[in-house]
Amino acid sequence: MSESIQTSDAPAPLAGAKPDLMSKFDGLIAERQALLDSGVIDPFAIVMEQVKSPTEAVIKGRDTILLGTYNYMGMTFDPDVVQAGKDALDTFGSGTNGSRMLNGTFRDHMDVEQALREFYGTSGAIVFSTGYMANLGMISTLAGKGDYVILDADSHASIYDGCKQGYAEIVRFRHNSVEDLDKRLGRLPAEAGKLVVLEGVYSMLGDIAPLKEMVAVAKKHGAMVLSDEAHSMGFFGPNGRGVYEAQGCEADVDFVVGTFSKSVGTVGGFCVSNHPKFEAIRLACRPYIFTASLPPSVVATAATSIRKLMHAHNKRAHLWENARTLHGGLKEMGFKLGTETPDSAIIAVILEDQEQAVRMWQGLLENGLYVNMARPPATPAGTYLLRCSLCAEHTSEQIQRVLGMFKAAGHAVGAIA
Ligand code: PMP
Repeated sequence: MSESIQTSDAPAPLAGAKPDLMSKFDGLIAERQALLDSGVIDPFAIVMEQVKSPTEAVIKGRDTILLGTYNYMGMTFDPDVVQAGKDALDTFGSGTNGSRMLNGTFRDHMDVEQALREFYGTSGAIVFSTGYMANLGMISTLAGKGDYVILDADSHASIYDGCKQGYAEIVRFRHNSVEDLDKRLGRLPAEAGKLVVLEGVYSMLGDIAPLKEMVAVAKKHGAMVLSDEAHSMGFFGPNGRGVYEAQGCEADVDFVVGTFSKSVGTVGGFCVSNHPKFEAIRLACRPYIFTASLPPSVVATAATSIRKLMHAHNKRAHLWENARTLHGGLKEMGFKLGTETPDSAIIAVILEDQEQAVRMWQGLLENGLYVNMARPPATPAGTYLLRCSLCAEHTSEQIQRVLGMFKAAGHAVGAIA
């Protein structure tokens, strides 16, 4: 007979032996410390001490060109947009203190949803507190237990998190592979609910999806389609609706998700749709119901910005010109880029490893240029890259200065010959 260890006089566990839930971060802490010990500036602790315009800020006491924000259409300092925010602040106060479902729907929440319906030409529009929550809410509410979400392997974190929250089965397909999407959809039960989630522009490399082909494949298998157009709003398609509009698949995309934090120039997220039952989302979607709504000043600036974006043809043309000039110039210098051609307003410069990427990032910053340093797990295939995102307000002269800075920093770290 074995001896019991459950004796009454067994010693109590030592307090010090309790598992520390924070110890799982030891690896991350050590990695970050090693980076800082090498004497570099921390790329993930930058402070904008002053912001002078959509393209210029003061960082570490120095005037710096911003080439790493999502301010694609340069709306943040538009006088009408700023004035709309000030007026709403004066009239409605600083916040709503409640959920959209109860006391948190003010006049301008209704107005910004109307602006979205006009911009997208849809019958329905629902505003969320961020783009992250729009994906979380839409995906988890649409696809529940027993349904399938079929998503691109390089999908944004908010899409993955939406899948987890909804308990649907997750099926991933190879990035931008129409063939793999077709194959994986073909293996699923014909009668099951299926949501294919795509993105117009993938934000790490700046590449665009072959939406037309993918949407056709999704429809062939009876799936509904949600396209996240966060990085395309304002400058893709005849009305700036996104890549899905540019590729002519508006009729077959069931839900479009977007954000106010990029081209619109403030904060917030949304979904637009022509589905006749779309309004029911408001009754069931937890990330819509169980959080406070956006401040009135934010939705008022968004509504003004969205209506101006409908007519921003010159800005759009200049943004594309900037993208072509920067992409062409960097390519000519011999940099390895995320895309062969200037496909979007994001241009990713791929470096060899973390050390080279951080050294180059710092070299650029010390010369007055801010770009995003991006690394795994945010980036695909373990790449380290410097992500440049262009703004319609960058002048041609700024782009030439940017090219000069890339040339000098690229030589200094051996990224170009
Ligand atoms: N979708 C994509 C593709 C994104 O890149 C982002 C943010 N970078 C979001 C959604 C979330 O948007 P927000 O910043 O409004 O939360």
